[in-house]
Amino acid sequence: MSVRLAEIDAGLGASGPSACVRCGAGLERGRQIERLVREGNDVAIVAVRADVCPLCGEQLLNPGMVGLLLEARDTMRQGRAGWALGCVYDLRRH
Ligand SMILES: [Zn+2]
Repeated sequence: MSVRLAEIDAGLGASGPSACVRCGAGLERGRQIERLVREGNDVAIVAVRADVCPLCGEQLLNPGMVGLLLEARDTMRQGRAGWALGCVYDLRRH
């Protein structure tokens, strides 16, 4: 996943194609979306900007947004993320 995000950050985004790379529909530019970043058992919700396809849902992160996601991971790793909003339950063995 991180490799793909890096490619999107370098090659596409706000100055990239105006059509969806998957289905060809026109992209909605600069929408604010939420991304989940996981570090071990911790998860952070991060607001980022992306070009979003209204048809298939493809999301192309705008330039600089990958940096925000990596920053969030560092913040969690260093224990500086503040108060938790909820819990993460492990139901994989149920
Ligand atoms: Zn699409």
